[in-house]
Amino acid sequence: MASPRKIGIDLGTANSLVHVPGRGIVINEPSVVAVSVWDNSILAVGKEAKKMIGMTPDSIIAHRPLKDGVIADYRVTEAMIKYFISKVSGRMRLFKPEVMVSVPAGITSTERRAVIQSSMNAGAKATYVVKEPVLAAIGAGVPINSPSGNMVVDIGGGTTEVAVISLGGIVSATSARVGGDKLDYAISNYIKTKYNLAIGDRTAEEIKIEIGSALPQKDEEIYELRGRDLNTGLPKNIEVKSNEITDAISEQLKDIVYTVKSVLRETPPELSADVMDKGMIISGGGALLRNIDELITEATGVPAYIAKDPLLCVVMGTGVALENLDVYKRSLMTKK
Ligand code: ADP
Ligand code: MG
Repeated sequence: MASPRKIGIDLGTANSLVHVPGRGIVINEPSVVAVSVWDNSILAVGKEAKKMIGMTPDSIIAHRPLKDGVIADYRVTEAMIKYFISKVSGRMRLFKPEVMVSVPAGITSTERRAVIQSSMNAGAKATYVVKEPVLAAIGAGVPINSPSGNMVVDIGGGTTEVAVISLGGIVSATSARVGGDKLDYAISNYIKTKYNLAIGDRTAEEIKIEIGSALPQKDEEIYELRGRDLNTGLPKNIEVKSNEITDAISEQLKDIVYTVKSVLRETPPELSADVMDKGMIISGGGALLRNIDELITEATGVPAYIAKDPLLCVVMGTGVALENLDVYKRSLMTKK
C-alpha cells in the first residue's frame, strides 16, 4: 500500500490511536514503551510492550510516557510517534505525510515543541498539534466553529480534560490529573484495606469495567476476583459488589465533577447559557463508566451526554480536521 499523505495520531495517556483519511483507524494500541535498562534501547512499543508490564525482568522497564498527561520522557514519546508513522507508512515512502498529533490541553510550549520535533524527526512534512478536547469535540460531531459555547469532557486514563470551545478556540479549559488510572488505584486500595487482599492493576481495571458504576445501583452486580491474602501470602478468592466499587471510587469521581464545575465557573455567562441549553459531551474511556453521565448531570445541573464511540472521538477528530484543515485552522496550535 502506498504511504499515506495524512496521518492523525491520538497520543493518549492509556491508548494511542492512528487514523489515516480514507483508511480509517489503522492502529489502536496501549501507550506503552519497553526500554532496556542496559543500553537504554527501545525494545517494544504498544501491545508488545504492555504485555511486559508487571512481568518484566529487572533489565526491562515498561514506560507509559504520558501517564499523567504530561510528556514524562521525550525519548520514549518520540519512539512512539516514530513507531506509529513508520508502521502506517510501510516501505514505499512516496511522499512525506502531514501529521496531526493530539496533545493534552495542559501541555507546555516546550513539550509542544518536543512533539513537533519528534514528528518531524520521524519524517513528517508538516506537523499540526491540536489540543485533545478540541479533537474530541470534533470527533464527537460538536460544531465547534459555531459562535456559541460547546462543552466537552474527556475522561482518559491519566487525565480529565474539560473545555468550552467557541469559534474553534478554547474559551476555558482545565486538565486534571484524575482519570481511569486513579479509579483503578482506588479500587485496589479499597480491596486491600477492606479484605486484606492485594490485587494487580489489571484486575482493578477489569473490576471497574465489569461492575463499576458512578452511582449506586439497585440491582447490584457481583464480581469474583482472585488476589493475594496479605496475612497468609496465599491466593484467595473473594466476591465484591458493584456498590462497594462505587464507594471505592467516590473521591476520584468527586475530583472529576469538581474539574467540570471549575470550567463552568470560568466560562463567560453567555457561553455557559449555551452550554446549559445544549449540554456537554463526555468522551474518553471514562465515559463508559456506568452512570457517569447521570452523576455529572446531577452534580452540575447541566445535561451530560455520552459521545458515540467515546474511545475513538479524538482520533476520529484528527481525521476530520486533517481533511478540512482550512475549516479548523483556528484550532491548530502549531503549523510547521
Ligand atoms: P487516554 O486518552 O488517556 O489514552 P482513553 O480515552 O483511551 O484514555 O481511556 C482509557 C481509560 O478508560 C482507562 O482508564 C480504561 O480503564 C477506561 N475504560 C475503558 N473502558 C471502560 C469502561 N467500560 N468502563 C470504565 N472505564 C473504562
Ligand atoms: Mg484520550
